[in-house]
Amino acid sequence: MDETYGRRPGLTVIIVGEDPASQVYVRNKEVNAIKVGLVSEVIRMPEQTTQEELLAVIDRLNADATVDGILVQLPVPKHIDKDAVIAAVAPDKDVDGFFGMKSGFTLKHGYVAPCTPRACIHLIKTTGETIEGKHALVVGRGELVGKPVATLLLNENATVTIAHSRTRNLGEIARTADIIIAAVGKPNIITGDMVKPGAVLIDVGINRGADGKLCGDINFSGAEPVAGWITPVPGGVGPMTIAMLIRNTLDCYLNHVRL
Ligand code: NAP
Repeated sequence: MDETYGRRPGLTVIIVGEDPASQVYVRNKEVNAIKVGLVSEVIRMPEQTTQEELLAVIDRLNADATVDGILVQLPVPKHIDKDAVIAAVAPDKDVDGFFGMKSGFTLKHGYVAPCTPRACIHLIKTTGETIEGKHALVVGRGELVGKPVATLLLNENATVTIAHSRTRNLGEIARTADIIIAAVGKPNIITGDMVKPGAVLIDVGINRGADGKLCGDINFSGAEPVAGWITPVPGGVGPMTIAMLIRNTLDCYLNHVRL
C-alpha cells in the first residue's frame, strides 16, 4: 500500500476476554491487515474489563487521527452492554458497518456496509452474473447477516425473499431463486433438490458437521452439480469477509484523508 496521503490506513481491533473462536478470528484479521500494509493494532483486554474501561478505550481511539477503523470483536462478555459499545464507535470509523445499516432497510450514504453482507454481494458480482431483476432468496433474518444482506440485494435491484424458521415450503421457494444466500447456522438447510439449475449459492453458515468437520448451511456435494456457482465452507465467505474488513478500513481512510 503506498503512502500517497502521508500515512497508511489504520485499523484497531479490540478483543475483550478469552473466547477461543474470537481469538482465531482476530488473529486472522491481524495477519491479513498486516499483509496488505495496514497499520494494524490489536488491543487485548481481560474478561473482567468493565464497560467504562472499554468505552474509555473506544473514546481514545475515536479521537486518534491515525486510526481509521475500529472493530470491537463480538461477543463481548455478558456484563458489558453490546449495544452501548457499538454505539460508542465513531460512525466514520465503524468498519463493522453497524452505523451504516442502523436505519433499517437503507444503507446510510457515506458509511460502509457490514463486512459479511458486503462479502456476499462481492462474491455474487465476481461470477459475472447480474443481480438486477433476479429473485434472491436470503435464508435467515439475523441482524448481522440476513437482514443487512437482504438490504444490499434490494439496493442492487434484486427481488428479495427472506426466509426464516417459520417459513413454510422453503424448498418450493428456493427452487424459484436465481441467487440463494444461506445464513442460518444449521447444516443441510439447502439441499441439491432445492436448487434451481444454474443458481448462484452463497453459503454463510459455519457449522461443525456430524463428522467433526467444518461445513456450511448448504449441502455442498448435493448442490454443487446443480448450481452455476457455489461458495465452499471453509473458504468462500469467511476469507472474503476479512477482505471486506480491509476494504471498509480503506474506504474509511479515504473519507478521512480526502476531507
Ligand atoms: P442468527 O442471528 O442466529 O440468525 C439465524 C437465522 O436463521 C434466524 O433468522 C432464524 O430464524 C433462521 N433459521 C433458523 N432455523 C431455520 C430454518 N430451519 N429454516 C430457515 N431459517 C432458519 O445467526 P447469524 O449471526 O445471522 O449467523 C448465521 C450463520 O452465519 C452462523 O452459522 C454464523 O456462524 C455464520 N456467520 C458467518 C460469517 C462469516 O464470515 N462466514 C459471519 C457471520 C456469521 P428466526 O429468526 O425465525 O429464529
